[in-house]
Amino acid sequence: MAESKKFLLPENRIPKSWYNVAADLPTPPPAVLHPGTGQPVGPGDLAPLFPMAVIMQEVSSERWIEIPEPVRDIYRLWRPSPLVRASRLEKALDTPAHIYFKYEGVSPSGSHKPNTAVAQAFYNKQEGVKRLTTETGAGQWGSSLAFAGSLFGLEVEVYMVKVSYEQKPYRRALMETYGAKCIASPSNLTASGRAVLAQNPNSTGSLGIAISEAVELAAQRDDTKYSLGSVLNHVLLHQTVIGLEAQEQMAMAGDDPDIVIGCAGGGSNFAGLAFPYVGDKIKGKSKARIIAVEPASCPTLTRGHYAYDFGDTGHLTPLVKMHTLGSTFVPSPIHAGGLRYHGMAPMVSHVKELGLVEARAYGQLDCFAAAVQFARSEGIVPAPESSHAVKAAVDEALRCKKEGRAETILFNLSGHGHFDMGAFTAYFTGQLRDEPYDQVALEAALAALPKVAAE
Ligand SMILES: *Cc1c(COP(=O)(O)O)cnc(C)c1O
Repeated sequence: MAESKKFLLPENRIPKSWYNVAADLPTPPPAVLHPGTGQPVGPGDLAPLFPMAVIMQEVSSERWIEIPEPVRDIYRLWRPSPLVRASRLEKALDTPAHIYFKYEGVSPSGSHKPNTAVAQAFYNKQEGVKRLTTETGAGQWGSSLAFAGSLFGLEVEVYMVKVSYEQKPYRRALMETYGAKCIASPSNLTASGRAVLAQNPNSTGSLGIAISEAVELAAQRDDTKYSLGSVLNHVLLHQTVIGLEAQEQMAMAGDDPDIVIGCAGGGSNFAGLAFPYVGDKIKGKSKARIIAVEPASCPTLTRGHYAYDFGDTGHLTPLVKMHTLGSTFVPSPIHAGGLRYHGMAPMVSHVKELGLVEARAYGQLDCFAAAVQFARSEGIVPAPESSHAVKAAVDEALRCKKEGRAETILFNLSGHGHFDMGAFTAYFTGQLRDEPYDQVALEAALAALPKVAAE
């Protein structure tokens, strides 16, 4: 039996800087626009919501941005994360491909999300903020921010998409363990929540709605700021510790990826692994195919329009150019709650338009099948979100088998599925179905995209 091999870096190899892909792009991404004026937003427009250090990262074009020492110190609790050669999976698939995964499930909350939660909590604390509001889908982001808030003594209030709030009571308990408050969204605590409930009292919620609620509350109070777990440039930036470590670990393994894969909800774990490779591609140092994998029921990159849109349902955020299904689109309640977002990170959308990355979509049944196969050969139960990356890695390995090619595949195992065992039960008892998106609702949401003169 082939042995799975783990490539571990010592603590002092935690990266000292994050990598900012904006420094290397052949063309900059389109400007972020103020929804009222249609003009590009300046740092001042974002100041009610975010600390200035984060805003400056959002607009930075510096290649390397130093990781503050207190943040690196907390990263030491679980970083550097392991890179693993999935030899048993290779054997089970009988493929000549080399499969590696970078495992982010070793963090306290079980996913990649603390990489940015800790950084954001640090910068907010530094600027005197007392309270953070945020949204969460499956609960991964809420629990990550709750964890980070507890380390820095910040109050954290989390608006959790109602379908997940009901499906995932243990995530809520985890947030409460870290001292955060968790509220089902849409709620009647905000004007945006009340507006949704007035139209549809049974709304299962969406990330777009929950964002509106959290943003609305942060804008009302001086001591409160808003924190976003994906999509924005600074979040993607913080996640690049994943790819930077992986590059060093792949060198230890004596391999170089031909294919780099990540699942994509808002795009942050994908970008975290992929952007250092995107940078190498631009510089001619890598020829890797880079693949973002999304759910067929929320096919932002593969079916969405590349257009200016709001980040939220209540239209409180600036307008960003991204692949979008329309801010009013509510995806079916699939179990990969973290992938149910109508938009995609503008920076991921931009590199997709530049042809530097590709995208594909899978139904959840295929993803669970791949997750189960992975668990039975490598031992780790993937989060339903991460199972999309697992499925793509398996498909690529099977293609290599058919073509007799020994390609090297690297994917991001963004988190473990220990809080999602209900979804696995549903899968084993035949209750899990593929949830095709509502074509009529999608067309209506796309038709309602804002009209922007700059396009
Ligand atoms: C939140 C989450 C995702 C999706 O978010 P991205 O910003 O696209 O990375 C993926 N995997 C896991 C485990 C998550 O918790």
